[in-house]
Amino acid sequence: MQPLVLYVLDLAADGAFERCVRRVEARDAVLSVTDLSATRGDGVFETVVVIDGTPQALEEHLDRFARSAALLDLPEPRRDLWRHAVLTAAADLGALRPRAAIKFVLSRGDEAGDGAGTGWALGFAPSAPPAAPPAPIDVVLLDRGYRHDVAQTSPWLLQGAKTLSYAVNMAALREARRRGAQDVVFVSSDGFVLEGPTSTLIARIDGAYVTPPTDLGILPGTTQADVFAGLRAWGEQVATRRLSVPDLLGADAVWLCSSTRGAAAVRSIDGTPFTVDDALTARLRDHLDARKK
Ligand code: PLP
Repeated sequence: MQPLVLYVLDLAADGAFERCVRRVEARDAVLSVTDLSATRGDGVFETVVVIDGTPQALEEHLDRFARSAALLDLPEPRRDLWRHAVLTAAADLGALRPRAAIKFVLSRGDEAGDGAGTGWALGFAPSAPPAAPPAPIDVVLLDRGYRHDVAQTSPWLLQGAKTLSYAVNMAALREARRRGAQDVVFVSSDGFVLEGPTSTLIARIDGAYVTPPTDLGILPGTTQADVFAGLRAWGEQVATRRLSVPDLLGADAVWLCSSTRGAAAVRSIDGTPFTVDDALTARLRDHLDARKK
């Protein structure tokens, strides 16, 4: 990633945006080594894609940000302030790159501080521009180690929150590479299909497009929601329901969706091949790129 613009939020201050949000050099040291984001991964984040200065699905990202913060018992993020920070960074990015992204982060704050959270919004360009069209991916199924009802039985495990603790997700991607694949779909310990480490799954089964429900302790995907909106508008059938591994392996086609990648077609899962529907994948990507909000 190439950092381009950075805004720091002063979460202790209230009132005018100008007092609460300030631009700093993107490579400046703004985070203390005692910040709980660094020492414990204790915080939440979102990554939003910015096309021609417009952050995509910003309100949905702000919804999920608030949901994640609530799951971690963090103070409710001031939505207007975070929206302002992201829109300001996006406007700067628009002048620099046609396509970029913003990662915005709320940490619990500094271990040695006054209890106020730490917040920032970093605009960046991905290190490698996405290939067009992107190559279809091979995926492995990995056990997430939790039952499908973990979010209800053990909310302290924070499943379904987008926390800063992504070390497990990154380890899963390394395991995929060791197995000769590029990505992962997690499965619950009792056999339900969940999500990828950085993506939401959509499977085409008997002509309908299906995604697993968020009560399985997975993130509500903003990209998946917009893909479903497009499919619905084109007269396709969409559904949110639980999938077993045999259900998934019996699908005709599968996609992994995320803000930074859009819709990526899956070529195989654990060696089982799927149809790669290039025409639909391209249509979905155009639909996502054309979003005006
Ligand atoms: N699930 C997880 C665990 C993720 O980390 C992400 C995105 O990073 C997604 C799903 C997809 O979410 P979105 O489409 O909103 O980027």
